Amino acid sequence: MRSLISLQSIYAARTAIAGTALRTPLVAAPALSARGGREIRLKLETTQPTGAFKIRGAANALARLDPADRQRGVICASTGNHGRAIAYAGGRLGVKATVCMSSLVPDNKVAAIRALGAEVRIVGSSQDEAQTEVDRLVAAEGWISIPPFDHPDVIAGQGTIGLELLEDFPELDTVVVPLSGGGLIAGIASAVKPAAPSVRIVGISMDRGAAMQASLKAGHPVDVVEEPSLADSLGGGIGLDNRFTFEIVRELVDDIVLIPETRIAAAMRALFVEEGWVAEGAGAIGLALLDEPWLGSLGEFVAIVVSGRNVDPHRFEEAIASASAFDAGAQPCRG
Ligand SMILES: *Cc1c(COP(=O)(O)O)cnc(C)c1O
Repeated sequence: MRSLISLQSIYAARTAIAGTALRTPLVAAPALSARGGREIRLKLETTQPTGAFKIRGAANALARLDPADRQRGVICASTGNHGRAIAYAGGRLGVKATVCMSSLVPDNKVAAIRALGAEVRIVGSSQDEAQTEVDRLVAAEGWISIPPFDHPDVIAGQGTIGLELLEDFPELDTVVVPLSGGGLIAGIASAVKPAAPSVRIVGISMDRGAAMQASLKAGHPVDVVEEPSLADSLGGGIGLDNRFTFEIVRELVDDIVLIPETRIAAAMRALFVEEGWVAEGAGAIGLALLDEPWLGSLGEFVAIVVSGRNVDPHRFEEAIASASAFDAGAQPCRG
């Protein structure tokens, strides 16, 4: 099996990120296991210091910079989990990090990224304008931009999750992974498949704007229309000039399942009510596979990656109140 990301680079990433990113717990999920009729365990990336797995990729990418680039610093335009990860890893590893944001980003988000030690530059009034400023600084001043998923060091960093899963759950036969740009699933597949080719890797996207799925269908990266979703961390395309994740997903991922928006809140609720864990929409989305008609696609020993927990309390409360877990999509139970 050919992979663009070597197992060796993932082992190297594990050493590089130790001390910045956590080796996260894989916890039992007894209520979900009983309901699903198989052993379900949860990989809690929600316990990372920035609340999401992206710290792994960011820490690896920064650790691998050469001294001159470290000095010059890195830049990105994300105000979400990637921006947080770059800011935090920069602070820990002594790499100057700059995050470009539009003037529309709320003050508390600006303050949070600043508090992690990053420099914040407010430019323009949209995310696109902030990204344009990043591109300008890269071209004009040689800044290093660290992208959120399509970068070998980022993918190798996320791949460390796969090493941990194989060690902690030797019976593992299915891994369920939230999927957007594909850095997370490409990393995990690159770690798991060489050692355990029979383990199925299943990607979960929302059915609104599933860019990777649409690209696989088309045979090349395509753009999709982005729509608002409770799984906001899964928004965005894979990049028309995608160099790594599209290929790796095409090669190594067994299945992609698209989940309707209404099941995302139900998944958040199930995770919280049944097991007591808080996650954002993108983080909980894998639990939707415990609904019919998707349940049959899982094996007997299933790890679900719970990718992040950064949701504002108001949205969380709304999601929990609006949904009732495992009803709308489930089969009626008679007798
Ligand atoms: C970024 C992100 C994802 C998707 O990761 P990709 O590498 O883009 O596929 C899933 N969940 C959370 C919480 C994220 O922040």
